[in-house]
Amino acid sequence: MPDMQTINADLHCHSTVSDGTMSPRAVAERAYAGGVRLWSLTDHDEVGGQAEARAAAEALGMRYVSGVEISVTWAGQTVHIVGLQIDPFCPDLIDGLADTRSGRARRARDIGEALAKIGIENAYQGALKYVGNPDLISRTHFARWLVDQGHCATIGDVFSQYLSEGRPGYVGHRWAKLSEAIAWIKAAGGIAVMAHPGRYNYTDTQHDALFDEFTALGGRAVEVVTGSHTPDQYRRYAEVARHYGLLASRGSDFHGPGEGRVELGALPPLPSTVTPVWHDW
Ligand code: AMP
Ligand code: MN
Ligand code: MN
Ligand code: MN
Repeated sequence: MPDMQTINADLHCHSTVSDGTMSPRAVAERAYAGGVRLWSLTDHDEVGGQAEARAAAEALGMRYVSGVEISVTWAGQTVHIVGLQIDPFCPDLIDGLADTRSGRARRARDIGEALAKIGIENAYQGALKYVGNPDLISRTHFARWLVDQGHCATIGDVFSQYLSEGRPGYVGHRWAKLSEAIAWIKAAGGIAVMAHPGRYNYTDTQHDALFDEFTALGGRAVEVVTGSHTPDQYRRYAEVARHYGLLASRGSDFHGPGEGRVELGALPPLPSTVTPVWHDW
């Protein structure tokens, strides 16, 4: 058993059960090949991949913890809360996630209509061809279709041109409340982790209020080293973890080969000043 301080942990990534491009089993194999020895699959708003992920990890001799990434609306913006060590059979969690997913189909049709208004026809039907789980259509599926249709060179370009807030294909959506997401994770016996906080566009006052509320509601950890952070943000969020007494997490946010900046297991280790969320697992 490797030392728990130095183990290569990747506790944030996606499969075809949400907006990744590989099956849970294929992600497990890629994680293991990338050196990961403690892994969690954290699909958006969905635990349908957990059984396959765990079985594949255990067959490889890789430690597995169940995970999920829940979409939340806080102060008008979307925040993601990762739940680790959850019981994927917990009814409160399953019902809460089903409610969170339920608005996605309507929103996807609205995104299709918004894109049609700027001359991009049939985007909804196009995006559907990329969907692995009919309950979970995401902006990422539109982005892949738009790239393959030649509208943009990269998925990042699609978001900045069409799908991010303020762009013509953006459709606002009300996700779960922060209090609900944390309550479902706690009901499932899990640990609530603030995902990639460096990505949110809050004022300093809002940022502090978000962390105050998150910790008051029982949030326990923050992603410090993630594919969404710069090295400056690793340092900043190590300091935030210490300030709020939060444990620190590490995860690539891998969605598929060639997408995003980071491979599974390839990020730097956590700074030595923080306590890993997995320290007592
Ligand atoms: P949704 O949950 O449908 O709103 O889609 C959110 C997903 O879109 C995130 O989980 C990312 O996978 C992807 N995403 C959001 N912003 C960007 C971006 N700027 N570049 C690439 N992918 C993005
Ligand atoms: Mn995603
Ligand atoms: Mn996220
Ligand atoms: Mn993610």
